[in-house]
Amino acid sequence: MSESSIGRLGLALDGLKMDRSKMFLNFEPSQKSEQRIIEQKPPSPQKNHDHCSHNIVHMLQTSSGTLNIKDELYEYSAEDLIDLGEIGRGNYGTVNKMVHKESGTEMAVKRIRATIDEMEQKHLLKELDVVMNTSDCEFIVEFYGAIFKEGDCWICMELMTTSLDKIYRAVHERLNQRIPEDIIGKIAFCVIKALNYLKTNLKIIHRDVKPSNILVDAHGQIKLCDFGISGNLVDSIARTRDAGCQPYMAPERIDPMHARSGYDVRSDVWSLGMSLIEVASGKFPYPMWTTVFDQLLQVVRGDAPQLTSTDQQFFTEDCLDCVNKCMIKDFNLRPKYPELLEHPFILKYSVNNKVTSWIEDILARVPDITDIKVGTETT
Ligand code: ATP
Ligand code: MG
Repeated sequence: MSESSIGRLGLALDGLKMDRSKMFLNFEPSQKSEQRIIEQKPPSPQKNHDHCSHNIVHMLQTSSGTLNIKDELYEYSAEDLIDLGEIGRGNYGTVNKMVHKESGTEMAVKRIRATIDEMEQKHLLKELDVVMNTSDCEFIVEFYGAIFKEGDCWICMELMTTSLDKIYRAVHERLNQRIPEDIIGKIAFCVIKALNYLKTNLKIIHRDVKPSNILVDAHGQIKLCDFGISGNLVDSIARTRDAGCQPYMAPERIDPMHARSGYDVRSDVWSLGMSLIEVASGKFPYPMWTTVFDQLLQVVRGDAPQLTSTDQQFFTEDCLDCVNKCMIKDFNLRPKYPELLEHPFILKYSVNNKVTSWIEDILARVPDITDIKVGTETT
């Protein structure tokens, strides 16, 4: 997607305001979007791409498209989806549970408010070809398709049960318990596998790893979501937002000295480390910051948060070593995925990576888990 098409996206984000901080903290290099998709994978031979390209043009005119559900293709428009209500809300829009009438498939539909012209919609939808190819990774939420409806992008994806931000709050605040180390290990394994798949197979860097983007289903499968097309829409918003809204951002992304050197997978490793500490300890690893200057001071100048054993919770040396290696402040020394996948803590959880009985127990004891309100940690 071209810089100009992203730059011209006019996103209707309530309360968006320019402030002085952006003059100091212009983190992202100008080729930001191109860096997310470093190199596009050649089209998969199984997919009928002529058909897809035809549909992209078709979609722009009629707000319709093709849903790809388990390799079955369905022509659809927003009218073919029955809205069953909101299941979540983020900074950029809402996620609703919907059912596709023809196939009876329940899905999650993320609706991102955007007002972009047809050319720009076309650029975004072209990226479907890349994102569509993720269905062979069991650690990534399946993507079914996307359409534009009255300018808003509707992203249809596999419906999961809930996200880790809600799970850890339920466990810590409702049940007054901790998430066991073996669950932390499985989460770490699944997310590293997903990130490694994105990097190796699709040449994509996620850039928004956080507990709300790690989803769990009722069978205990753990999957990563929110990259690719949604990420690119989000990029266009992030470009005009206060960068302090990205609390999981690595120090090298925040530090103006390094921010222009390009995005590296190890920045996602930092965000993973932050997420694991948050899920394991039950709270965001930094004290609340109220301005981007606070964030700059704490993340760039301060010591990195560390996972430690406490009176309430004991972690093994392997667990502490693995999580804390993700939090090495100098990204040159921080491990990449191949090294992490060889770490004894990750190797230990590389088989039987479901958390079935544990999640069943939590869901049974906190049946309203999806209603848990999650506040933003920062301004
Ligand atoms: P941000 O807007 O900063 O990315 P976020 O990740 O919390 O924050 P959304 O991606 O809009 O915001 O998601 C909102 C909530 O919707 C998530 O926290 C999650 O609980 C729920 N959700 C998102 N995708 C799915 C899905 N595929 N299946 C089930 N629930 C989902
Ligand atoms: Mg999300």
